[in-house]
Amino acid sequence: MNLTDIIDQLGSLKRSSEAFADADPEDELWAADIDALNGSTEILTVLRDAKIGTADDLKDVLEDYRQQADQLRELQRKFTKAAKPTRKGDIWVCPECGHRITPNHGFCHWCGKKLGGW
Ligand SMILES: [Zn+2]
Repeated sequence: MNLTDIIDQLGSLKRSSEAFADADPEDELWAADIDALNGSTEILTVLRDAKIGTADDLKDVLEDYRQQADQLRELQRKFTKAAKPTRKGDIWVCPECGHRITPNHGFCHWCGKKLGGW
């Protein structure tokens, strides 16, 4: 069953719930069911419009999002947050990659790490 079929079926359930609600307006259960059906239909419509057709598709999209968010955090850590170079004897080394670096440079020539606090 694809999302369009599921959305259509939820619409059918909503119409049934509305009929029961009309027949028994005192029973708040039907109004709660209608609210839940409206909410779930709205969510599923957004997913369908985004071309996410199955639960596996959604899991893939969320995993891709998490990986990209992790990559972005790593890029920000490396290239926008300065780290103090380390002095080893007469030379300075990059705190990220350990290569020798030129004093007072803003970034490591080898790995691109942002440097500061000289
Ligand atoms: Zn480096």
